[in-house]
Amino acid sequence: MGANKAAPIVQVAVPTPVARLFDYRWSLDAPIPVAGMRVAVMFRRRQLIGVVVSSSAESSVAPGRLKPVGSVIDSSPILPAEMMSLLVWAASYYHHPIGEVLAAALPRALRDGAPAALKQREIFTLAQRVDELMPTLGRAPVQRRLIERLADTGSADATSLSTISARWRASLAPLIERGSVTVTMSRSLPVNQAKSSGPGLVGEQAAALAAIVSSLGQQQTFLLNGVTGSGKTEVYLQAIEAARLRGEQVLVLVPEISLTPQLMGRFSARLSGCLVSLHSGLNDTERSQAWLLAALGHADVVVGTRSAVLVPLPRLGLVIVDEEHDGSLKQQDGFRYHARDLALMRGRDACCPVVLGSATPSFESLRNVAVDRFSELRLTARATGAQPPVLALVDIRQRALTEGLSERLVDAIAEHLDAGSQALVFINRRGFAPALLCNDCGDAADCQRCDAHMTVHAASGRLRCHHCGAERDLPVACASCGSVQLDRVGHGTERVAAALAEAFPDVEIARIDRDSTRKKGALEEQLERAVTGRARLLVGTQMLAKGHHFPALTLVGVLDADRGLFGTDFRSLEQMGQLILQVAGRAGRESAQGMVMIQTRNPDNPMLQTLIAEGYDAFAEVAMQERRVAGWPPFGHVALIRSDAVNPQRPIEFLDTVADFLGKDLEARDAVGEVELLGPAPAPMERLAGRYRARLLLLGDSRAKLHTTLARLASVIDALEGARQVRWSIDVDPADLF
Ligand code: ADP
Ligand code: ZN
Ligand code: ZN
Repeated sequence: MGANKAAPIVQVAVPTPVARLFDYRWSLDAPIPVAGMRVAVMFRRRQLIGVVVSSSAESSVAPGRLKPVGSVIDSSPILPAEMMSLLVWAASYYHHPIGEVLAAALPRALRDGAPAALKQREIFTLAQRVDELMPTLGRAPVQRRLIERLADTGSADATSLSTISARWRASLAPLIERGSVTVTMSRSLPVNQAKSSGPGLVGEQAAALAAIVSSLGQQQTFLLNGVTGSGKTEVYLQAIEAARLRGEQVLVLVPEISLTPQLMGRFSARLSGCLVSLHSGLNDTERSQAWLLAALGHADVVVGTRSAVLVPLPRLGLVIVDEEHDGSLKQQDGFRYHARDLALMRGRDACCPVVLGSATPSFESLRNVAVDRFSELRLTARATGAQPPVLALVDIRQRALTEGLSERLVDAIAEHLDAGSQALVFINRRGFAPALLCNDCGDAADCQRCDAHMTVHAASGRLRCHHCGAERDLPVACASCGSVQLDRVGHGTERVAAALAEAFPDVEIARIDRDSTRKKGALEEQLERAVTGRARLLVGTQMLAKGHHFPALTLVGVLDADRGLFGTDFRSLEQMGQLILQVAGRAGRESAQGMVMIQTRNPDNPMLQTLIAEGYDAFAEVAMQERRVAGWPPFGHVALIRSDAVNPQRPIEFLDTVADFLGKDLEARDAVGEVELLGPAPAPMERLAGRYRARLLLLGDSRAKLHTTLARLASVIDALEGARQVRWSIDVDPADLF
């Protein structure tokens, strides 16, 4: 640094909930670190790993109080310039502390300071012929699929095999032991060899592919709006191949990888090059290694859930968001980003196309099509030539139900089973019954920490709160009056599965919900039984609605459609329509005609009528009218200030103070009316896990003006009276008002 007098200053984003950068003195005998490099610094007497954001000659902090940077971890930025600017923008847009945003972008091992270097990886290779091996396996579905994957791809590493089953390692061990699979340690890339090239596309599919391929190298957003089974995934696969041949990286966001092992199998069989998946089944090392393959530019295709949108991709040339309407794309705590919205930013930064795909697009995306921000690509027919399922409402007002099932539905199930097909019963409640009521005094078994009934779980003999996780033994007598006349009220998957087992004693049933799939490997096992058709009756929650292909399934029964009709949230109706059509889309995907029976006490409801008679477009149009009138998204813009505390009054009092500040601030800026304040009010379920919760809603017709108001609030909120007595958060573009 020659004759320089004052040491330079670096501004570091430190992982702490304070929304600013911290100045450190640079006094090491090395070049000053540039933005995106990690450094170790002392922060409140602890050593933390931060990321350099900028540097300067001076600081407003007195020189004596400036601490030096401890050490530099990276020799080049681990987060390149375009990721840094995106993350800095996101921190300001979502009003979340920059240090936490940058930390969220790094996998744990790298966040903790691990070197950004690729290690040797285990590479698993098939050492025996598949046709010799398979007959020796018996009924071991996970082993079979591991072998199939290895046969498809030649060899594979842990990140690939782990998409098959959470139990993959245990299942592979005996195969390694007897020499059917060999393990080598290697620094070379896991390279996939496509096994097949897929069908030639014609008609709408070909047109959609052509539109995407011809826009490679340009910034453009497409909504691939295609009915379930219309061949969207096929379009993705061929578009990915086109981008790869141009030497570009492709980012594919999917809702939940463990739920759709079929999808990853299809990707491995069809894509060549270095294919990396980022999902929750990876351990810290596997995750950071996969991340580095992507960030260092080695991976050709990165398939991941929400957080993969934050991974650096130096050669990014195409972004795909599958099931773009899915709620899981929104992070619900901490840094509350929406992966679909950040995906659009990635496309803009990389100057490449972004494809949002869905059979039931979000109202946001439909709106963007209407105002010509997105171009719409439609696939109106099923790719296999199968007919769309027929939807019918079953009026259950005057009818006696057996455990929630109407006679008509049970008859239909019997018919489809007789014909050798599968049937699926969808009920979006897990457990046996959502409430336990006393017949004598009317009291319910409630959660002691939430404003909610406990759910009866009969098989395990427990009461569980589905909100806070509290549980206790099923009581034999009422806690208030001692009566033993306790009624299990309502239905969950467990109860419906039991009823079906009684009605169809010779039929195997697969129940798929969070309880039945909690154990490692249980989900894969249930899905296997469903996909192969061994289980001919399927009962489950929305876990069953997502993306699955059950070849023999022809009948879907929806038990509780009415709940969505009268939901309290502005998105309830949209979500009901999406869920019904997604689960309906599981029916009749091959040759036989699919049938969907929707039980309802509101058969004349115009929204239900429109949905089943005219389809999603018409439904969305009517439902969006309601949102337009009320100024809800996608027409207006919303931010939610949440507050909670053990004390029942504090959250509301604090939000009163916030509302007061905002009111005065709007007035002072002559901006009254630019942002509407709704509330504060108690949250829809006021008490959760022993804490009282309140909400203040900000509604604005201009995103920019809402943002200005939020920025004013964010700069003072910590100092407002009562801020220390509550937990608070700001949620921009909230997924719900819960
Ligand atoms: P989506 O992603 O829209 O649900 P998929 O891409 O999974 O649809 O396609 C549904 C089914 O149709 C799959 O079994 C797929 O292999 C098949 N398929 C897709 N495109 C074609 C095509 N062009 N020709 C024949 N079969 C196709
Ligand atoms: Zn009682
Ligand atoms: Zn609870």
